Amino acid sequence: MTISFDNSYARLPERFFARLPPTPVAAPRLLKLNTALAEELGLDPAVLASPDGVAALAGNLVPEGAEPIAQAYAGHQFGGFSPQLGDGRAILLGEVIRPDGARRDIQLKGSGPTPWSRRGDGRAGLGPVLREYIISEAMAALGIPTTRSLAVLASGEEVYRETPVPGAVLTRIAASHIRVGTFQYFAARGDEEALVILAEYARARHHQQAEGALGLLRAVVAAQAGLVARWMLVGFIHGVMNTDNMTISGETIDYGPCAFMDGYDPAMVLSSIDYGGRYAYANQPKMAHWNLCRLAEALLAILPGDEAAQMAAAQAALAEFAPAFHDAYLGGLSAKLGLPARDDALSQGLLAVMAEQRADFTLTFRGLCDAAEGDDRVRGQFADPAGFDAWAEGWRAALAGSTPAASMRALNPAFIPRNHMVEEALTAAVAQGDMAPFERLVQVLARPFEEQPDAPRHAQPPRAEERVLATFCGT
Ligand code: AMP
Ligand code: MG
Repeated sequence: MTISFDNSYARLPERFFARLPPTPVAAPRLLKLNTALAEELGLDPAVLASPDGVAALAGNLVPEGAEPIAQAYAGHQFGGFSPQLGDGRAILLGEVIRPDGARRDIQLKGSGPTPWSRRGDGRAGLGPVLREYIISEAMAALGIPTTRSLAVLASGEEVYRETPVPGAVLTRIAASHIRVGTFQYFAARGDEEALVILAEYARARHHQQAEGALGLLRAVVAAQAGLVARWMLVGFIHGVMNTDNMTISGETIDYGPCAFMDGYDPAMVLSSIDYGGRYAYANQPKMAHWNLCRLAEALLAILPGDEAAQMAAAQAALAEFAPAFHDAYLGGLSAKLGLPARDDALSQGLLAVMAEQRADFTLTFRGLCDAAEGDDRVRGQFADPAGFDAWAEGWRAALAGSTPAASMRALNPAFIPRNHMVEEALTAAVAQGDMAPFERLVQVLARPFEEQPDAPRHAQPPRAEERVLATFCGT
């Protein structure tokens, strides 16, 4: 089993992590291997599926060249600060360089206890692991920056949540696992030396064009503004935007109680643990900005100049968030509508009618692609189409005879991971050991922008009795 690792994070100072191997599992079994992703990483899928490969992905064998570590980080969870979180159930095996030169982390999630496990068992249940696989891979197919899922291993052990559930290990691939909370960890300890090292490491790894710690902050602000705009444009609700779940790279990370909306409702909250609606759909830009304020605070002491200059620079960097978000979001909405120029009155007008009638977010935008070609069936998404009809008149006038249907179809997916389909796939896998609905769902979601007439159920919102009202992180 040879993987050419190049473990740059493990060469950072020892206080950045704890060195320990994954804890072996009883009876590893490969449930899913993402062969396309393996090839993208320059790894041989046949080797990964071999007995040694399976043992490595389960954490039962540390492959040559790996330097397993659990990373230290802190974080604000639902607004409250924990100075010490860290990888409580994940081990970074190491980093590989893809054939195209990009560096990627290979991390096992559910790999056993670490010094940061607190009261947790260090393990993961099969349901949440499959959920992360489905949604992260769907996000990637939608073109949204995200961590990826390389493999799912059944551990052959039970983990105890509310009830015993089958255990699993996910192999997560990421540009890195550096979080806002990684900076907070060292800031909370007044460790400026570590902050300087981490900022330079993160800058060189993710934002090479940026200069210094201030340049890094500005680059993360821009990356996160763009990322959250991309979420909003497909109706994605992250659900747990704590600062330990926000990356410096700009990738979406930590698929816990996340969900895509069916009917459009800006106030929608699906996470069962988000009692106050802090991470509701429409709050996401505000919460991203809040998290970036925490990053700015963590970096403050290492920004150039005296205290007044540091504060002014941090505030100026944070002020770049709102315009960057609005450009990406409002520009993106107009592009979804096929408009030749940005028209906020039109895009906001549509969203208002959609919200009033809880029109299906995905099918309304997808239906507008057909409407641009004269097929008006999208009206069926509105219980009372009068408001939509009035809006559509203005939209047609703005299109001014252009035919944007093809470009619109590349921006408005037909398929998203709908909650009820995700739940159906997880239930079949967990309760019956039947992976077929999972496999089918993953296959459909790999081509979200293509018509797939053989997947009619996957395209449709749930019937009343199929609706999923809450999602659980199940950790
Ligand atoms: P998350 O909610 O997944 O973002 O995790 C928040 C913190 O809890 C991180 O420090 C995790 O490593 C830790 N954690 C979550 N689940 C477990 C578990 N089953 N065992 C140990 N630590 C966990
Ligand atoms: Mg997390």
